[in-house]
Parts: sequence; C-alpha cells; structure tokens
Amino acid sequence: MTIHEQVVALESLGATDAELKELNDALASERAALERKRGILSELQEKLDRSRASSDEMEHTRGELMLELRQLGVQLDKSREKLSRCRTEREVNAAQREVEELRKLYRDRELEIQRLSELGQQARGEMAQTQTEAAEIDAELAQNEGQVASRLTSLERDVAAKLKEREALVTRLKPQLYRRYEMILKRRGTAVAHTTDGTCSACHMMLSPMVFQQLMRRDDFSQCPSCNRIIYYKPAPGEAEDSQASGA
Ligand SMILES: [Zn+2]
Repeated sequence: MTIHEQVVALESLGATDAELKELNDALASERAALERKRGILSELQEKLDRSRASSDEMEHTRGELMLELRQLGVQLDKSREKLSRCRTEREVNAAQREVEELRKLYRDRELEIQRLSELGQQARGEMAQTQTEAAEIDAELAQNEGQVASRLTSLERDVAAKLKEREALVTRLKPQLYRRYEMILKRRGTAVAHTTDGTCSACHMMLSPMVFQQLMRRDDFSQCPSCNRIIYYKPAPGEAEDSQASGA
C-alpha cells in the first residue's frame, strides 16, 4: 500500500461517510415526521377518550337529577293537596312554607339539569371536532403510508449499499490508520484534511514549517496539531505529481 493509494482510499472513505451521514439524516427525519403524526393522532384519541368519559359522567348525573326532579314533583303535588285541605291559619302557613321550599328545590334541580344539558351539548360538539381532526390525520397517514414506506426502504437500501462500499474501502487502509480515522470521525464528524499551502483544509490553521516540510515529502501522514484530523500534502493543481513516494 503506497501512501498515494491510501490517500485515495482515505478520500473515498471520507466522501462515503459524508454520503452515509446524509442518508442517515434523511432516514431519521422521515422517521421523525412519521412519529410526529402518529403522536398527534394518539393525543387526539386520548382527548376523545377523556371527553367521552366526562360526557358519560355528566349524562349519568343528569339522569340522577331527573329522577330527583320527578320525586320532588310528586312531593310538591302532595303538599299542594295538603294545603287545600288545611283548616287553621297555622296549618295553612306551615303547608305554604313546605310548598315554597319544595318549589325552590324543584327550580334548583331544573336549573342544574339545564346547565348539564348545555355542557353536554358543548362536549359533544368538541368531540365531533376532535373526531374530525383525528380522522383527517388517520386518512393522511393511510394515504402516505405506501410512499413513506417506499422512501424508507429505498433509503435503507442506499445505506446498506454505502456500507458495503465502505467495507471495501476500509480493506485498502492500514488498520492503524483506519483506527485513527474512526476515532477522529466520531469526535469531529470528518477525519481527513489536506494541505497545499501550509494551512489545514479543515480547520484553516497554519501548520508548523517542520510539519509542512515533512508532509511535502509525501512519505507519511501526519495529524493537524489544531483539529487532530489526518492530514496529507496535496499538490496545487498543475504541480507535478511525479514525486510519488512509496509507503510500506
Ligand atoms: Zn486542522
């Protein structure tokens, strides 16, 4: 493996890894969009369940109040009848008080029932709205399901192909150089840099003259003292490529 061959392999590996990153980002964002929609749908369904439960509870309470109202109506009829049969003023007063109290209770129940009816109607309206929203997202998901699945499959296939390419490239590198590459890639996102004029192509810092001179001999790699990326000398376009030194 000459240094030149390894430079070519390193550059290809860098390009492959950049493409892999793009593919994986695209995969992640497709999956995230799908998850987001499913999340909204499940929130709407939970909201619907809560509304249904509270609506059922209101309906139950309303039923109990209706029963009470009927019983109060019966009591009221009885009290009125009693009033009509009163003989003394004392009896009349007492019976009138009873009728008044029952009437007040009756009115209170009526108002409560009315209020619950209004709330129930409002809740049913909200539920219908939520149901519509959920149905829309559900339909959207169903409609796009095929497209999203085929995009995901195609991206996954591309990733698998790139990984195969990558494997082949890795065999063209010395194991030690590859290990170094991997370590820097994890930390920096990219691992390879070159220099033509004495500055690092990745971080743009100036290399020391000694390091630069050494790289210009093109018999080994070095690491940029600033960003630690693997760095090699790349002649300016037009400069003779004849002095290819051989590596071990
Ligand atoms: Zn650098």
